Amino acid sequence: MHQPASYENSGLTMRPSFLPRLVNGPFDDPSLYIPFLYEKRAIIFDLGDIFSLSPRNILKISHIFVTHTHMDHFIGFDRLLRLFLGRDQDLYLYGPKNFIKNVEGKLAGYSWDLVKNYTNLLALHVTEVHDDHLLTKDYICQNGFIPASKAAKHPFNGILYKEPSFSVVTQILDHSIPCLGFSLKERFHVNILKDAVAGLGLEIGPWLSEFKQALFDQQHPDSEFEVTYGKKQQKKMFILGELIKQIALITPGQKVSYVADVVYSESNIEKIVELVKDADHLFIEASFLEKDRDIAEKKCHLTARQAGFIAGKAGVKHLIPFHFSPRYQGQGHMLKKEAMDAYHHTLKQSKKPLKNV
Ligand SMILES: [Zn+2]
Ligand SMILES: [Zn+2]
Repeated sequence: MHQPASYENSGLTMRPSFLPRLVNGPFDDPSLYIPFLYEKRAIIFDLGDIFSLSPRNILKISHIFVTHTHMDHFIGFDRLLRLFLGRDQDLYLYGPKNFIKNVEGKLAGYSWDLVKNYTNLLALHVTEVHDDHLLTKDYICQNGFIPASKAAKHPFNGILYKEPSFSVVTQILDHSIPCLGFSLKERFHVNILKDAVAGLGLEIGPWLSEFKQALFDQQHPDSEFEVTYGKKQQKKMFILGELIKQIALITPGQKVSYVADVVYSESNIEKIVELVKDADHLFIEASFLEKDRDIAEKKCHLTARQAGFIAGKAGVKHLIPFHFSPRYQGQGHMLKKEAMDAYHHTLKQSKKPLKNV
């Protein structure tokens, strides 16, 4: 972790707002699950096999970002939909060109004659990304997922999704077909001073996400803020500005980047480096060993060394190589080492000129 443990000891909670974790091991289907701290909410990058994710965790998902629809990245769609059927939920799905056709193909694979009786409102909002615009189509479960209208067209400037506290940006990369890379960017990070919270007689709890939301919404510092805390749901009123001064420390926001399935080309490297620059965590495919570079090229994937090089060039803080080819079962450590060596080497090289100045 890049968060020094000593902060914890000083009573300052440096827990990040987003806690990304790969759903499966590096040889299994890609999916990055990103739950939000203090909230029953999550987003997910890629929808590979998600059976190892508990239904409780799947049901926290609101936004789904799919790099491309090769089967290993999209087979989890059925599992997700199965769990959300009969629930009130808006699900937002994002993918590359032809994504709408792929989602409609999945939906057309089942009979929906009984869903008109459902009283719950499940809606899918599906967006596909083109060079200069987005296309969005909506589907209501009760209507048998027949599209509510024609696709709506919106301008696209790289930002795929935005709310006050964070945004998800994308780049269209090349994997023989268009493949999206993603970065989740927190606007700024609100660190909570644990000891100060305790000093006010309060307890850590869900009220902290409301408190953070108030900061992101730029609520007036003179406004009142009610804290509901503890098992007995006790209430205490504060002036927001005063509470901020006492329990919060604002630091730069967290950045989580995800790149899966790309050709190693000048254009891809440039776009990926721009997308993942200075990320706190970069999850990047490292499918093949450098000695099998010709196979990687043929299959439009990266080698571990190439993945490490890109991560180093972008100056990411924490590299997590994954999506290893099954041919290396039992040799995952070699892929990891190759990626890490290239990463550290490139990072060192890029820092050198600065030291000599
Ligand atoms: Zn793949
Ligand atoms: Zn692929």
